[in-house]
Amino acid sequence: MNEKQNYITMLHGAGGAVMNQLVKDYILEFLGGSKAEVPLEALDDAAVIDGIVLKSDSHAVKPIFFPGGDIGRLAVSGTVNDIAVLGAKPIALACGLILEEGLPIADLERILRSMKETCGEAEVHIITGDTKVVEKGSLGGCVINVSGIGLRSEKLDHNFEVIRKFRPDFKAKWILDSNLHSGDKIIVSGTIGDHGLAVLSAQEGLSFGSQIKSDVKPLNKLVEKLLEVGGIVAMKDPTRGGLSNALNELSEKSKVGILVYEEKVPVRNDVKAACEMLGIDPFEVGNEGKLVIGVIPEKAEEVLEILRQTEEGKDAEIIGEVTKEFELVAMQTVVGGKRILTPPVGDPIPRIC
Ligand code: MG
Repeated sequence: MNEKQNYITMLHGAGGAVMNQLVKDYILEFLGGSKAEVPLEALDDAAVIDGIVLKSDSHAVKPIFFPGGDIGRLAVSGTVNDIAVLGAKPIALACGLILEEGLPIADLERILRSMKETCGEAEVHIITGDTKVVEKGSLGGCVINVSGIGLRSEKLDHNFEVIRKFRPDFKAKWILDSNLHSGDKIIVSGTIGDHGLAVLSAQEGLSFGSQIKSDVKPLNKLVEKLLEVGGIVAMKDPTRGGLSNALNELSEKSKVGILVYEEKVPVRNDVKAACEMLGIDPFEVGNEGKLVIGVIPEKAEEVLEILRQTEEGKDAEIIGEVTKEFELVAMQTVVGGKRILTPPVGDPIPRIC
């Protein structure tokens, strides 16, 4: 994997170990070096500079319409969620549209309407942007970049006050991947793998008996409710590379181990069956409306209860805990053994976001 390649391959964009290596070897090498509070080098969901949370995310999902969503909803949700998981309140978005010659105007309208609706759910506006058109090629209709800024809120300050009641030496100012501590509980907000399988079914014209729908959704309102409870130390949206990649990032950056109980991880039966049929691991498949949450043990049950009162969090589970006994992700399997959950090479499904 450390062997350098001469050309970009699809795996370089698949959100796993190969992409992470590309980012470290090239992006950080050339573009790192800022003095930002949370810099590029943190490789967190978003950056922080002068109190402003900043994020940019491009979306090249294929096809642009899929069960449960479309590229517009995905583009707004993706950026809103990356800002929200640092604990920030999204303030404004910018949108770069790259349209392919031949895209039906009706499709553009459908995408923009969806973006407007998703912005409404997230209570944020797109206030600047840019539109370009390229010759017919391989875009599949369009590519959309959404960037955004967020600010800290009283709810985030409250969250940290709650943590410091139990852990007086807790110093972080943002909810970061590097904040996990031995004893913290890991919660997943709902079933995993839905988004990737929904996009795959649209790509390949597959049907899995029942229609699997994407979970794509802005989660900033849900995050606010969790901050009101307090005790959230780390949080990620498990997108490309799925739950497995998100847990490995948390473990690596926090320098702790995570023990996961396989039987606790919620997976829909149809997703499980489709993954078995296709030979892919639902733990490695991307999600667009889920949270992986690290919470202090004293608040874990309360956070779980609040999640379960919401539509998007009704299947939430405490799936594991943080330990200092090892520094990797281990899974207690349903058959009783333990296996190491390694970071995936890449998401098994291409162009899901
Ligand atoms: Mg993210």
